[in-house]
Order: sequence, then C-alpha cells, then structure tokens
Amino acid sequence: MRVLVYGAGQLAQMMYLAGCPLGIEVHAVEVSNDTVVHPVSKRPLDITLAQAIESSDALTVEFEHVPERLLEEASKSEKLYPSIDAVLVGADRVREKRLLDALNVPNAAHKVVTYIDELEDCISALGDKLIIKASRDGYDGYGQWRLTSEEQLPELKQALGNLNLTTVPLVVEQMVNFDRELSLVGVRDKSGDIKVYPLAENLHHQGQLHVSVAPAPNVSDDLQSKAEDIFRNLADGMNYVGVLAVEMFQCGNGLLVNELAPRVHNSGHWSMSGSDTSQFENHLRAVVGLPLGNTAARGPSAMVNIIGCSSFSRDLLKIPGCHLHWYGKTVREKRKMGHINVTAASYRELGEKLEALGQFVPSEFFPTLGREARKLKHIEP
Ligand code: AMP
Repeated sequence: MRVLVYGAGQLAQMMYLAGCPLGIEVHAVEVSNDTVVHPVSKRPLDITLAQAIESSDALTVEFEHVPERLLEEASKSEKLYPSIDAVLVGADRVREKRLLDALNVPNAAHKVVTYIDELEDCISALGDKLIIKASRDGYDGYGQWRLTSEEQLPELKQALGNLNLTTVPLVVEQMVNFDRELSLVGVRDKSGDIKVYPLAENLHHQGQLHVSVAPAPNVSDDLQSKAEDIFRNLADGMNYVGVLAVEMFQCGNGLLVNELAPRVHNSGHWSMSGSDTSQFENHLRAVVGLPLGNTAARGPSAMVNIIGCSSFSRDLLKIPGCHLHWYGKTVREKRKMGHINVTAASYRELGEKLEALGQFVPSEFFPTLGREARKLKHIEP
C-alpha cells in the first residue's frame, strides 16, 4: 500500500517510519515545487505528482497550509483524507470559528474583523483584554497580537496597518484566563469508528509548545468525557477521517476549544512510546482503511521538544525510558529540531527523569523543563 503526504517535514518522516512495519510506503510532496520526495532523505523520487497521486491508495497532509490548488487536485482523486474542507478549517481561523459555532462547541468569545475600525466594536463587545489573530498563515504565536488595555489601541492599529484585512481578516478573541492548556488527539476511520488518546497537558513558551505530559495529571472522568464529547462532535460533524487534534483551554471544570489541527500533532508525539499505537500509525491505518489501534496510555509519559538547538549530550539516552527522535534539519532559531519522549511508572518518576534530562541539555533552550519536573514530582500516585 502507498500513502502520499502533502508536506515533507518531520510529520511526514514519522508517518513514513510508522508505515514501514505495516508495509505501507509513504511518499511526500514538497509543496513549494510540487516534487515527490522521500520523506526522510527529502531526495526527489523519479515520479511526477500526477503519477504519485494515481499510484497511491490514500492522500493526506502533514500540515494545513498546503496551497489550495494542490488540495483541490488531491481532492479530485477522491482519495484525500481528511477531506479538503477539514484541511481548510485548520488553515483558516474564520472557517474554524464558523464550524465551532455551528456545532455548538464552546470556544472563546470572538469577532471577525475585516475593517480596522471594527476593533473599537470588539472592545465594546469583548472588553479590552484581547488576542488578535491573523485568520491565515499564523502558527506558533506568529501572526498574533495582544491588547491588554484600551490605551494600546492606536499602537495596535499601527502595527496592523499594513495588513489586507479584506483578504485575510482578523479573528479577535477575548483573552481567556485559563487554568491550563490541554489537547485531545483522536482518530476516526472511514466507517465512523473513533478512538481517542487521553488528554495531554501542554506547556507553551512564547507561543510554542515545549512539553506535553500524557495522560494529563489530575483529569477527572467528567473532564475527559467532556473532551471526548467535543472530539466526537467535531469529527462526526466533519465526517473526518484520520488523526485530528483539538487544542483546548481548561477553565475550572469547563473546556474551551482554542484550535483544531487536521493532522497528526506535536502534542500527540508522546504516543510513540507512551501508547500501544502511535498517532502516526493510527493515522495511516485510518486513511488506508485498516482497523484502528489501541490508544490507551501505558503509563505517564512526556514529550520534550528540542527547539532551536542541536548541541546536547546524547548521553540523555542513559535515562531509562528516554527516546530521541531527531528530524535531521539544519538548526535555526525557534525551529523544532527533534523531540525526546520519556516514559515512567508514575508521575513522580517522570518528574525525576525530566530533572535528570535537564542535566544533558542546555537550559536556555528548555525553559519549561525544570518547572514541569518539579510539578510532576509532587503529584500523588
Ligand atoms: P494559537 O496560535 O491560537 O494556538 O495560540 C497560541 C497560544 O496563545 C495558545 O497556546 C495560548 O497560550 C495563547 N492563546 C491563544 N488564544 C488565547 C485566548 N483567547 N486567551 C488566552 N490565551 C490565548
């Protein structure tokens, strides 16, 4: 069997690796020049995009910002999973908000702005603590601005002055005073069967995910089932096929959906060692029509992103249950270079292992690691 992935980054690479034992060959599309490449070496393959589409059993995406013309071409083959509509929901915050509202999924109070002076109306309606997000092409905190008091409005308007809001509107959200950030990664197959991983707790720093812990500590059955209901509602509502990630804010016992990722997701990487079936394997299974695998967690685990740094001691592999996943990219500031998965028998042990990990990596690139380690060490079993 063969799967063609649009996008040739680390997610395509990890799908390729998950496909090997299943006998699923994964090819990738470098979307900047329409070439078909090997997902690990990134070397061009001797095959055109049209031939690759023709010879694949399923087409999928590793990121939502695939040019629309390529998505349309892929969709025509009737082998694209998830569907073009689902991918576009992830690529456009206006579509995303429309979907959330249509399905009555709780999310931050918001307004869509296509004309800069509408920002005054936003303040009247939502208050003066706002997050302003470009509706397209924003990621990892890019394309986002914050307003913390009305006095900052002229400055904000100036910062937004050169944007064309008619083509790329803004989504203006009320700032949510959340307790923590969680995500639910799950998978739905072609017959509507759904399996979800336990909620993961996500630690961000400067808009980027640094650490995920799964299962998230201190999650009541009620909270997990609220998250699963949201997932089902969204996945069924979109007739979704494949892995879908739902990023949420926990506020008391409630959940607000922040963002959808119509693909395998960074906050699901822990599943490579922490669950019976990784998100990458489950995604491939779903899109080619194989039965879905068990998504339960084996025990507590953590995923630590390696961001903007390539020099650290490989001796971190001495820590039992510690696995390195290196993406083979050239180092750049803020670039995700790889991740480290750590599994343990208890949260306390997980905290101890993260503390040990801190001795092998440069602390300036891992600003949340120590905090997370200390927190986990104090969780009762
Ligand atoms: P996003 O690109 O929408 O995932 O936002 C990046 C990060 O900004 C999130 O992970 C949150 O930490 C923060 N954030 C986004 N939206 C809000 C909001 N409405 N209220 C408070 N924080 C937010």
